[in-house]
Amino acid sequence: MFGLKTDLISLLELQDIDSAIQTAQKELEAMVEKKTYEKLQTELKDLASKERAMKEKLKAQNLVQDKKNGELEMLSQKIAKEEKKLFGGTGSNPKELAALQQEIKHLNQNRDLLETEVLENMEILSSLEEKMSSLKERIRERENEASEAESSVLEKETQLKGQLGKLANDRELKTKDIDNELLEEYDEIRERKGGLGVAALIDGICQACHVKVPATDLDKIINKDEAYDYCATCSRIIILKE
Ligand SMILES: [Zn+2]
Repeated sequence: MFGLKTDLISLLELQDIDSAIQTAQKELEAMVEKKTYEKLQTELKDLASKERAMKEKLKAQNLVQDKKNGELEMLSQKIAKEEKKLFGGTGSNPKELAALQQEIKHLNQNRDLLETEVLENMEILSSLEEKMSSLKERIRERENEASEAESSVLEKETQLKGQLGKLANDRELKTKDIDNELLEEYDEIRERKGGLGVAALIDGICQACHVKVPATDLDKIINKDEAYDYCATCSRIIILKE
């Protein structure tokens, strides 16, 4: 039925092509570069949300600072005004002057408190800004790494896809040399047997499962024109190869 020896050689060659396709596909799916890139993307997303939160914090803290500075400015103006009253000699009543002095003292105390608050807030601000700048630096680094990873993903993907395209072409050409029924059987076994449908029989040993074929089976193959059979151990097609 299948008779032709070229069929069998072609079938073994087809198996090589199919194994190469399987390897390239697995490589495409399990690309390390892709995982690196995805990991970096996740990290970048996380960093971006941290950056947003930090921006909000800085904005709020700057508002606090502006408000306190405004208050400080107003207070200073008020003090200057009261001092002018005191030293300008507009009010000569000693009681009034004493009250004015008391008021100025009180205002100065308030100003001291406010100045301390402004300084404390400046420290908070500068530590936030420092954190923000190291966050930005980390983002820049990760972005560079991600862009490098992306290039190698694309490079490898292009290479593997090109390889797969060529292999698909090789496969199509090769199948033309093989009897349809044999090809169907091979494809069916290959699907069941993890991608390996046919194996060479070398020195009486099946090259798929590495088990010695019984002598009686071997005689059968040798005496047959087709020179192929099924492995008694793994049920794959075995082809006698001298
Ligand atoms: Zn076997």
